[in-house]
Amino acid sequence: MIDVDRALAIVHETVTPPPIGAAVATPLREAVGRVLAEDVRADTDLPPFARSTMDGFAVRSSDTQPGGARLRVVGESAAGRPFDGVVEPGRAVAIFTGAVLPAGADAVIQVERTTRDGDVVVCDGAVRVGQNVSRQGEDARAGDVLVARGSRLTTGHVGLLATVGAIAPLCLPAPRVAILATGTELVDAASTPRVGQVRESNGAALSALVERTGARVVSCRRLPDDRDVIRAGAAEALATADVVLLSGGSSVGDYDFTPEVLADLGVVTHFDRIALKPGKPTIFGTRDDANGDRRVVFGVPGNPISAFTVFHLFVKPALALRFGCAPAVRARLPARLDAAVKRVAEREQALPAVLTLREDGLHARHSGWHGSGDVTCVARANGFVFIPAGTGELGAGERVFALPLDAGGPDVFEFLFHA
Ligand code: AMP
Ligand code: MG
Repeated sequence: MIDVDRALAIVHETVTPPPIGAAVATPLREAVGRVLAEDVRADTDLPPFARSTMDGFAVRSSDTQPGGARLRVVGESAAGRPFDGVVEPGRAVAIFTGAVLPAGADAVIQVERTTRDGDVVVCDGAVRVGQNVSRQGEDARAGDVLVARGSRLTTGHVGLLATVGAIAPLCLPAPRVAILATGTELVDAASTPRVGQVRESNGAALSALVERTGARVVSCRRLPDDRDVIRAGAAEALATADVVLLSGGSSVGDYDFTPEVLADLGVVTHFDRIALKPGKPTIFGTRDDANGDRRVVFGVPGNPISAFTVFHLFVKPALALRFGCAPAVRARLPARLDAAVKRVAEREQALPAVLTLREDGLHARHSGWHGSGDVTCVARANGFVFIPAGTGELGAGERVFALPLDAGGPDVFEFLFHA
């Protein structure tokens, strides 16, 4: 059994990014979350021309005086309709935000500082050279690298890429994920279980979690605890996906076939047990195919809370690495425990938690469970709180680490200065 940090380190050392040759031109609306496979450069200066940041009058600053000035208005420069003449001494051109600063002018006096007197504008005082003007190229020069190869694209990049015409940047592909939910007791979630049967929920939960990362679910199947059936299903999954998630059967019971099946299929197991509660019987393996592709396989415990936890702690970073990113080895934030939690000897706990942000920082409260199968505590949680292995209990007020989740539900920031 290895601890959580060691297991994470192994995942980081083992999962490889997609080969650069797999990069594809990716429409901007699909590109968020992807890793750029090329440098994106400015195709022009940014801004591309000197432009006004105000509505007002383009002037020669030397024409304006602290005591005021009277200048003859000889035309206008509006956004998209530049003035094509030159602003001569003693002249001004009406100008609007975003419009080209006309030749001859070197500043803009905002309209609030002027009054109109026929074709003359009366200025209330002086303006400095460059006042209310964005210089051409002040943000970037044509040819500058704006977003470097290897960057993970965020929503913040999208507008910039569109600005420079990079509407389909070359990106590494999103990982393809196959999900296999194993268990003879499992029935389709649309049906009514008979005694001893359980609605299959990990397929839905893991699919949602995978898609939330931007990765693609290529298949999601439910299989009975039958070695041959699981082997055939896993073989097909390995042929069509970069990452395979097998839920259930990862432990040592008579009907737990994941370890044997992975061995049958040539998957090399890097760990098969973690000192973690929940999530102990977690398997992580890889298979290098002839073409150099490295498939990643996780055997996650079927217990829905365990599956959810293992996904956030191990599968999510593995997916990020498979996107081509370099995520933090262990992302977590300092927090304070709001209520005491019993420790567990030899196993770190990752407990579904309600995290709240207050004036004094992040607080964590175990979202409460009535047993290891209690899925209601996951639904209430907006994060995890980590309780180190040990004896006795960790009291209220103790310092702990927490992992906020992007659950798509209430997040910690919605509790900012409340609760
Ligand atoms: P296993 O990891 O196969 O030993 O399963 C542990 C527990 O999780 C058992 O109570 C299973 O019935 C339950 N379980 C396994 N897979 C699923 C699933 N896909 N959906 C819901 N519950 C499951
Ligand atoms: Mg089972």
